[in-house]
Amino acid sequence: MAKKLSIIVPCYFEEESVPLFYEAVEKVKDKLVDVELEYWFVNDGSTDNTLNEMQKLQIKDPEHVHYVSFSRNFGKEAALYCGLREATGDYVTVMDVDLQDPPDMLPEMLNIIETTDYDCVGTRRVDRSGEPPIRSFFARMFYKLINKISDTEIIDGARDFRLMTRQMVDAILEMSEYNRFSKGIFSWVGFKTKYLNYENQERVAGKTSWNFWSLFKYSIDGIVNFSQFPLDIAAFVGFISSVISGLGILFIIARYLIQGDPTSGWASTICIMLFIGGIQLFCLGIVGKYIGKIFTEVKDRPVYIIKEKK
Ligand code: UDP
Ligand code: MG
Repeated sequence: MAKKLSIIVPCYFEEESVPLFYEAVEKVKDKLVDVELEYWFVNDGSTDNTLNEMQKLQIKDPEHVHYVSFSRNFGKEAALYCGLREATGDYVTVMDVDLQDPPDMLPEMLNIIETTDYDCVGTRRVDRSGEPPIRSFFARMFYKLINKISDTEIIDGARDFRLMTRQMVDAILEMSEYNRFSKGIFSWVGFKTKYLNYENQERVAGKTSWNFWSLFKYSIDGIVNFSQFPLDIAAFVGFISSVISGLGILFIIARYLIQGDPTSGWASTICIMLFIGGIQLFCLGIVGKYIGKIFTEVKDRPVYIIKEKK
């Protein structure tokens, strides 16, 4: 029997891209020998015609096209998780709808999965052309940092675009956490992954939903979700400052015994108090970040809510 390949496509305000994406994949379909395709479009709460476009495709190709529509915007991570849960294929791939993840690569990826013992074929951008230099700089810093402080390897430039075996998808589904950072999750579950390099592609239509600030927050989330190093920093800074202040106290007692008690040093006392106060707030902030994550995790709310599915 032919194997099934599920294609998961998260979409947020992508009315123009949805039909273009479908056409582009249908074009490479002939090269995907011996597999049947199954599309899972996930409408992540877009209020433009994205859902209409999905419905049109579903009516045109009801055997292969499925869609899920969320009750509001839950974010790409939630859309990916939903797609992975719905997909029934023996192989599963996740792709952006804006064709930044080229469907032309699918036959090669499928071939590797089928003929070698790799469990996953991922993709990596070799350049960051078309991106503001300052963003590239921060992105590089982020990958350097997170790989230093996390046990989970996060590959620089790796896209979410990947093709996985059913076994790996099932492992990912075991991770039902609320705070999802896919780059980390894909790596955390292990399995043998091969990376294919490709040149950065421009979007076919629409515009990116990321700005500098949202990327910054995303990177902080990635760190908090996959490393406890910031907590170690807080403990370390606290330890060092108490050692230093202990030495300071000894010094002052010694000076008092030798020199008497000259009333001086008011300004420096205030400076030190402010400094210590700042460090305390900083460390409290780090701890708070983790408590916030625990809070959302403990509430155990659903990662997404489906309004319509076909
Ligand atoms: N996306 C989504 N929900 C969101 C934001 C984005 O499902 O809240 C989808 C979007 O439609 C696209 C993919 O995630 O298919 C990647 O988004 P985008 O192209 O904006 O990111 P970039 O390629 O710039 O990293
Ligand atoms: Mg994109």
